[in-house]
Amino acid sequence: MDLRSDLLERFLRYVRVNTQSKDGVEDRFPSTECQLDLARLLEKELAALGLEDVRLDSHGYLFATLPARLPPSHARRVPTVGLLAHLDTYPAVPGDNVQPILHENYSGGPIQLPKAPDLAIRPEDNPELSKYLGDTIITSDGSTLLGGDDKAGIAVIMSVLRLLVTDPKLVHPRLRVAFTPDEEVGNGTKYFDIQAFGADLAYTLDGGGMGEVEDETFSADSASVIITGSDVHPGYAKGKMVNAVRLAQQFIARLPWAASPETTEGRAGYLHPYQVNGSVSEARIQLLVRDFTEEGLKRLEERLRDIAADVLALEPRAKVAVEVKESYRNMKTVLDRHPQVVEFAEEAVRRVGLTPQRKAIRGGTDGSRLSLAGLPTPNLSAGGYNFHSRQEWVALSAMVRSAQVVRELLGLWVERGLTAGA
Ligand SMILES: [Zn+2]
Repeated sequence: MDLRSDLLERFLRYVRVNTQSKDGVEDRFPSTECQLDLARLLEKELAALGLEDVRLDSHGYLFATLPARLPPSHARRVPTVGLLAHLDTYPAVPGDNVQPILHENYSGGPIQLPKAPDLAIRPEDNPELSKYLGDTIITSDGSTLLGGDDKAGIAVIMSVLRLLVTDPKLVHPRLRVAFTPDEEVGNGTKYFDIQAFGADLAYTLDGGGMGEVEDETFSADSASVIITGSDVHPGYAKGKMVNAVRLAQQFIARLPWAASPETTEGRAGYLHPYQVNGSVSEARIQLLVRDFTEEGLKRLEERLRDIAADVLALEPRAKVAVEVKESYRNMKTVLDRHPQVVEFAEEAVRRVGLTPQRKAIRGGTDGSRLSLAGLPTPNLSAGGYNFHSRQEWVALSAMVRSAQVVRELLGLWVERGLTAGA
């Protein structure tokens, strides 16, 4: 079977398995049992392909090994390369009973979704569609997301493995494969055993589009502002009551509008108040703090402390505390110390005839945590668009390109090898 047909068949098989994760689940991991259905299916497929050490651990992480195939008397130092994709789909959009629809020989114009006539995928909002005239576009029927995030990545990895196993001419490093649960709820690496994985470097196949190489993520903290007031009977409150609800309002009003998610893009950071709870005696404001640099992050947090001081000046009898917790850090600081990892990815993109697009993600990936934990892991395109939405779509030729990029990339690691310090 050719690469295109293999990818299509796999993709359609994987998206039909519901793997929706769930937010806020503390007492079990993964957050939903259904993710293991896909893990078990892939476990069988990896074993059938002849991979070694196929192992689904108790937390739902599926690992496997493909031993290296090197040219005779190869002198270069070839690293163990990891390939990762996540099993779960976004919790806030329905992911059960996905009915993928093939729009073959796409001829331009809007793509209709039968179960959601008002959600047609329009070229005005999706300029990338024009790259795929004549191609096969895959969508859901409009009642669910598609799940190309990240089943396109899984299909790409599985198809590349099949290619390597069936074509003895293709050389490649020792590969470690990982399919991971609960990425969409921010826990994709919570129980990821880096030691057991044993790769020198890795790539997540979890990006959109074609030819993208993402080597930067936000640096992220979360902040809680805790305002303590003092409650008394409102009929006799004059000069006595300290109302935390009103002080919370003062705090929020002072947050810079120009540094909010609604007003920023590109490389600008933000302060994002996303939850407020409170009563007269205590109010809590939860915020996300995001920037691409550590200094920027610190500046935004300093801003929070300045606002806290201003609010306290309004009402010195209150208490205003700002607590900051680290979430994740920009992986670029790590990837810059291993330049080959990103350079080879870009070279592989060029080898399949595309122009590499180096991008910064306004969010985190499993790769940001893995990189900071010692496993350099940039993110590569897997062929999908409009993630986390019922208008999600995948272009079959973009998945094919993605698989070709990975094949070239693995070839490069054999051809050029790991230089000292990389
Ligand atoms: Zn994803």
